[in-house]
Amino acid sequence: MNIKEKDKTYIVNTYDRADVVFKYGEGSILTDENGKEYIDFGCGIAVCGLGFNNKPWLSAVTKQATALPHISNLYYTEPCVLLAETLCKRTGFKKVFFGNSGAEANECAIKVARKYAVDKAKTEKPEIIVLKNSFHGRTMATLTATGQDNMHKPCFAPYVDGFKYALVNDYQDFITNVNKNTAAVMFELVQGEGGVNPLIKAYVSAVVKYCNDNDILVIVDEVQTGNGRTGTLYAYMQYGIMPDIVTTAKGLANGLPIGAVMFGEKTADVLRFGDHGSTFGANPIACAAALAVLEQIDDDLLKGVTEKHNIIYDALADCKQIKSISGLGLMIGIETDDANEKVKKCLEKGLVVLTAHGKIRLLPALNIDKTTLNNGLKILTEVLK
Ligand SMILES: *Cc1c(COP(=O)(O)O)cnc(C)c1O
Repeated sequence: MNIKEKDKTYIVNTYDRADVVFKYGEGSILTDENGKEYIDFGCGIAVCGLGFNNKPWLSAVTKQATALPHISNLYYTEPCVLLAETLCKRTGFKKVFFGNSGAEANECAIKVARKYAVDKAKTEKPEIIVLKNSFHGRTMATLTATGQDNMHKPCFAPYVDGFKYALVNDYQDFITNVNKNTAAVMFELVQGEGGVNPLIKAYVSAVVKYCNDNDILVIVDEVQTGNGRTGTLYAYMQYGIMPDIVTTAKGLANGLPIGAVMFGEKTADVLRFGDHGSTFGANPIACAAALAVLEQIDDDLLKGVTEKHNIIYDALADCKQIKSISGLGLMIGIETDDANEKVKKCLEKGLVVLTAHGKIRLLPALNIDKTTLNNGLKILTEVLK
């Protein structure tokens, strides 16, 4: 059996994989088992944001793997402390909890929002308002929090209580969903899996103001938008808001599993001894990797993200098959017919792009060089011309 056949035989059939076996990555170039090269506009779903075989990352990872790969949260270790300190200093948040994925980070945020409301004797049945078309993960709570009915399959019921679904960018509908049990609102600033739709700034400001005035926590899910992806270290920074909780994961460790939850003034001390934990969380290798990532996300890199955003928009401006383009920074959605077919065509021509909710989704590396970017855009414009 070859790899594809063995995969189908031995791996649970939850994925519809593209017809390619990838073997190597260097920067933004991938190589498959036959030696064919591809330009990568996907980053393993916004994870390898600094490209493959990133040298500072590799050096941090190998050093930590040699020194101490894992010891658990029963003991003190340095990488997670330095990472938490760096995250706090660069954001203004007060404390961090580490897990291993986006869903786990959101799960933790949900627990904290509930405990915050119960501790304050606000309610015994806390509710969290989420948005329609959102994506927050695949665990039972985060799947319930995901505002897409087609993902709430009856075969997985019963779902988790305590979520309300508000219309995107509709302040009145948000207010309609608020009641005395409302503990928090949770949203992505750019709905990623939902089709790369940025929220409208005026809507976000109004919701956050209402929440601040009424002691409702604001949770921003930056699992995909975080770590430079949208042109600022975190997307909330360009919305002029300070959330109470921010979750992040995907790009934080450039390919190693990590999730982080950042807590502000109100929420930093909600969790106490025994309230939450994770065996793999704060893993030293993942934390060392994340430190090497954050060190590289500086003003120059972020400026480049916005520049490259403009290069992409300019290159796609005249494509007849594009109905609309949306996004922020290097997180871009392209509305077109038969997106899946076009993604396949791109792959055949040597370009890796993704889909999101019937659109083509671009998530190139933040540090992709302009030549590679333009070469990739040549393939994309050919397919969309
Ligand atoms: C990917 C994603 C998640 C889930 O992350 P996992 O690491 O797959 O659990 C949650 N929220 C958003 C916004 C995401 O893009």
